Amino acid sequence: MSIVKLPVSAVAEVLYCPRNFYYRIVEQAEDYNHHVLEGRKQEERREQRLNVNREGYKQSRKIFLDSDFYNIAGTLDVIEEKDGMIYPIEYKKGPLRNNVNDDVQVCCQALLLEEHLNKDISKGYVFYVESAKRRVVVLSQDLRELTIQTIQRAKEIIEKGEIPQPVNDQRCHGCSLIERCLPEETKYLKEGNQKPRKPVPSVNLGRVLYVDTPGAYLRKKDGRILVTKDKETIRDIPLTAIDQIVLVGTVNISGPLLQELLRNSIPVHFATTYGNYLGWLNPTFNKNSLLRLAQARAVDNENLRLVLAKAFVRGKLSNMRTLLLRYNRNLRNEQISYVTTQLNKIIMKVESADSLEELLGYEGNGSREYFSILHLLLKKDNEFYFSGRNRRPPRDPINAMLSYGYSLLCKDVVNELMRVGLDPYLGFYHSNIYGRPALALDIMEEFRSIIVDSAVLTAINTGMVNQADFRQEFGKCEMSEKGRKALFQAYRNRINEEITHPIFGYKLNYRRNIELQVRFMAKVLTKELNEYKPFLVR
Ligand code: SF4
Repeated sequence: MSIVKLPVSAVAEVLYCPRNFYYRIVEQAEDYNHHVLEGRKQEERREQRLNVNREGYKQSRKIFLDSDFYNIAGTLDVIEEKDGMIYPIEYKKGPLRNNVNDDVQVCCQALLLEEHLNKDISKGYVFYVESAKRRVVVLSQDLRELTIQTIQRAKEIIEKGEIPQPVNDQRCHGCSLIERCLPEETKYLKEGNQKPRKPVPSVNLGRVLYVDTPGAYLRKKDGRILVTKDKETIRDIPLTAIDQIVLVGTVNISGPLLQELLRNSIPVHFATTYGNYLGWLNPTFNKNSLLRLAQARAVDNENLRLVLAKAFVRGKLSNMRTLLLRYNRNLRNEQISYVTTQLNKIIMKVESADSLEELLGYEGNGSREYFSILHLLLKKDNEFYFSGRNRRPPRDPINAMLSYGYSLLCKDVVNELMRVGLDPYLGFYHSNIYGRPALALDIMEEFRSIIVDSAVLTAINTGMVNQADFRQEFGKCEMSEKGRKALFQAYRNRINEEITHPIFGYKLNYRRNIELQVRFMAKVLTKELNEYKPFLVR
């Protein structure tokens, strides 16, 4: 892989963490945390300042320079001319400090200036905004050599196209890419040993702002999102606390806020009052073409497909069994116990399957067993009848709710796949036919029972839905608007519910767990992990 010209701002990342550099340059990652957003705000304020030009003193701002010799390019914050000297000044967030990465960045800028002006530059400065102080950077021979070596190393990382190992130390804790990189989790999955700590809160925690109050209006104010209704503020949240926004029904949003969200790579999803997904406003198509290439290659690898399919089916059947076991702790029903034993036997056979067809058989048998007794998990006095799964069209209320819930889950999985950079339509277990989000259907197998089936059971057992919310027509069962809304609410509650991660031991909501599974899938496809472990609830 090659890149037109290496951005100067990224060169110093190689010294900080080569993996960070890879994400930013090769994968074009633009994840944000509060450090990044604060830096950006400071930059916006600086952009308001004017150039200075008076007798014997000149400051020029935001000057773009590039170099064919070093193959680097960048926009210099400030070029200062004083006492016959000219030098770059780089602005940094935070307090005054000695930092070799900053020195290398200033040196890169000086190399650009030297080539452009054809004259020697002997120094530069770094201005630290928090301390409002500048530090001189002497462009010694040693610093020049380190800078050239770093540029060379950056080029090698790009040429190689392989993701460098995580640094896995204190640097990771302030890193805006930690939610993508998952250094401790990846190490733990590969080597075991020390359990990962829950990542320090960052912007990318999968935090979703849902707004479904009819007539609500979202606008931006001083880096915050204000949600108002009839001039009354109903939510006031920092932009940094949000990872995506879902607007349901007749909710309005201001143009300036939309622009700010796009600038900060925060997608906005639109759904109807009944949960029907309309689409999303996303900053850009995911730029990780190398990942999509790896995915396309993996689809042609029959062995890998079977291995992944086994993980999906094992995840699906195991989580169905766990759901039954959980309910049966109180119910103590023999039929349920019998089915959990049957499911266990089928799960044991999954690993020995020689083909996707054989696996489909096991999955079918297990699902039939599970759905044959799902009605036993409903409260005794419920008004609903269920004798097994049917669809296209669903013929009874519970099947209508299950179908609707699975479609909501599918959209959420598609969303996570797109965010991570995978193609939702290229799957491994489900066949790839036109218009079918096969990979989303693969990943959602592990989550169907524990998110959707659980939400449907809750909606019925707590009286959120009743028979009046359904109507039968031509052998097809349809949900009323009120029923859809109630189920959407139950689904939303469930997907936002926190659960202790079965492997890592820290708490995350189901939505974020879906994202983790998708990220681990990406790591398997790029060969960073050699096994995809299904999400198995306990
Ligand atoms: S989380 Fe750590 S290893 Fe990953 S990119 Fe950031 S600093 Fe590097």
